[in-house]
Amino acid sequence: MSTIADNLSTLAARINAAAQAAGRAPSEIRLLAVSKTKPASAVREAFAAGVRDVGENYLQEALNKQGELTDLPLTWHFIGPIQSNKTRAIAEHFDWVHSVDRLKIAQRLSEQRPDGLESLNICLQVNVSGEASKSGCTPDELPALAAAIAALPRLKLRGLMAIPEATDDRAAQEAAFARVRELQASLGLGLDTLSMGMSHDLEAAIAQGATWVRIGTALFGARDYGQA
Ligand SMILES: *Cc1c(COP(=O)(O)O)cnc(C)c1O
Repeated sequence: MSTIADNLSTLAARINAAAQAAGRAPSEIRLLAVSKTKPASAVREAFAAGVRDVGENYLQEALNKQGELTDLPLTWHFIGPIQSNKTRAIAEHFDWVHSVDRLKIAQRLSEQRPDGLESLNICLQVNVSGEASKSGCTPDELPALAAAIAALPRLKLRGLMAIPEATDDRAAQEAAFARVRELQASLGLGLDTLSMGMSHDLEAAIAQGATWVRIGTALFGARDYGQA
């Protein structure tokens, strides 16, 4: 069995190779370690190997882990679906939120972000595959929603996030990520962040401009939801 440190160096090599192939500097691409269902001890091991950014999908699970890891200077990212009654805790306990897809949620995060903290970094999740079950605003909704969120205080709109339909077809992966990149450019807001690419498709995402790749399985191993 490979360790988290081994997995991280394999990932660094994948990211470097993908960046090189795309003519990009590897430093433009940052790794977000997605630790849902994994224990705090796994995050601690990842930190020891060099991970500094951690992504969580479920609020209570994230708060529990944060409580066990207060001694580590980690940056916490919320990447899961957001219910209205969870916004206060998210605004108080995270530095980034990648999964905003409604104005009401953004308004609550803005109102509830504590004054003493830096602006909360926001990515707007867009659904580029048109799957009804997926979170994310539609491409049609995006311009008005992005403009409204960019105007809210105590939030900093950084870019777009997407989870395209899973496929092994590299051309299809790239087409979906290219769509996200083009949508972001068309907003004309000078956004600097594209949160896209997971364990199975990070190469295609990097080829199309990803700045955060969100990696769970390839870093921590397969998830066992039965024990989550
Ligand atoms: C679980 C999850 C990931 C990580 O997926 P892997 O395929 O395990 O790398 C990335 N982004 C989001 C939003 C997730 O929920």
